[in-house]
Amino acid sequence: MNLLELITAKRDGAQLTATQIQRFIQAYTRDELPDYQVAALLMAIYFQGLNDQETADLTSAMLESGRALTWDDDTPMVDKHSTGGVGDKVSLVLAPLLACCDVRIPMISGRGLGPTGGTLDKLQSIEGLRTDLSLDELRRVIADVGCVITGTTPEIAPADRKLYALRDVTATVESIGLIVASIMSKKLAETLNALVLDVKVGTGAFMRSHQDAVRLAQLMVEAGKRVNVATVAYVTDMNQPLGQAVGNAIEIQESVRVLQGQGPEDVRELSLVLGAELLVQSGRQQDRGVARSQLISKLDSGEAFAKWEAMILAQGGHPDRITPLAPAGEYVTRQGGRLVGIDARRIGMAITQLGGGRLVADQPIDYGVGLRMDVRLGDILAPGQRLFTLYGKPTKRDAIARAIEAGMTIVSDGGDYTPPPLVHQQVR
Ligand code: URA
Repeated sequence: MNLLELITAKRDGAQLTATQIQRFIQAYTRDELPDYQVAALLMAIYFQGLNDQETADLTSAMLESGRALTWDDDTPMVDKHSTGGVGDKVSLVLAPLLACCDVRIPMISGRGLGPTGGTLDKLQSIEGLRTDLSLDELRRVIADVGCVITGTTPEIAPADRKLYALRDVTATVESIGLIVASIMSKKLAETLNALVLDVKVGTGAFMRSHQDAVRLAQLMVEAGKRVNVATVAYVTDMNQPLGQAVGNAIEIQESVRVLQGQGPEDVRELSLVLGAELLVQSGRQQDRGVARSQLISKLDSGEAFAKWEAMILAQGGHPDRITPLAPAGEYVTRQGGRLVGIDARRIGMAITQLGGGRLVADQPIDYGVGLRMDVRLGDILAPGQRLFTLYGKPTKRDAIARAIEAGMTIVSDGGDYTPPPLVHQQVR
């Protein structure tokens, strides 16, 4: 494997062949390539990009670096993946909710890094809960409960494990081709019938432009369809946190409320939209409206919440022992007017800086750190009105709260402002 040749070719804008990509991934997975050369290749890819064929070849090579799961029964296997957003807790709602509708959800999730929280970290605020299940344990929970949310295993796309860690420390995460291959190699290893992708766009997302988000969505949908997984993407808004809660324990609390038929409207709505799509794509329902009604009845009857408790117990957790929230401080606006902008990334970073997320891999997390938003884009605010409550160490809280406030735009003349829609576009 002559990696120098690949680095030079990509640096100069050439297309890499399927064989070159395959050999590179095989050699890197076997620890045969030095990280400094792979880092150089990643940076060349970051600047030159990957075309559609290279992206497809990289996805296949990364998928083949490990094993695909196999399933014994015929029940449709479905999953949802989000590209990551601030306060995005929909996975926590969807897995148990869908498991009440005769589909199975083997959700393999990630940890958070930087401003967007990770589903696994949120779950870790539940005492005893394990997110490091082996493949056999994962299969057992799926057979017993119908859904599981756990971390990746050494067998699943091991190339991504190594590559993602390197991308993370070489500023090469935000490359569309690399993101597609990373996400889809892991999701396709789950051997699914249907997959729905939630591609976030806005101030709190990887993708800041609508055009980039749509391209990412299109490439992921193509990757799914190529291996006969019914795949649909939704480009959804991330210009403000999803729901009110941002943080680990606090997001578990909010997810539980949604699972009990309550909670913020946007979290419930997005769960219904993505869930109904999966019920249709898996063939369990013909009609999106009927699928939606089925999901609503599972939330409102308490069935979805009972399934959540069963999943937590099956993964060793105590459903009613969640890390208590850190001390609270309330922050108000001095200025009146209409709220027309929120820097959601700053909110995510604030949680990280207070200890609720990671700046470097393996950093311990304070699960009780969090934020509750009391305002939404488009609200008309009076001076002195509460903007948010921040839960964290009082000594650090005020400076961080000021940074969040500085990321909020309040204007006196905002009469013609329309808040962004929750769902921007579908990509099929
Ligand atoms: N999530 C992933 O799993 N991989 C990426 O590259 C980006 C987000």
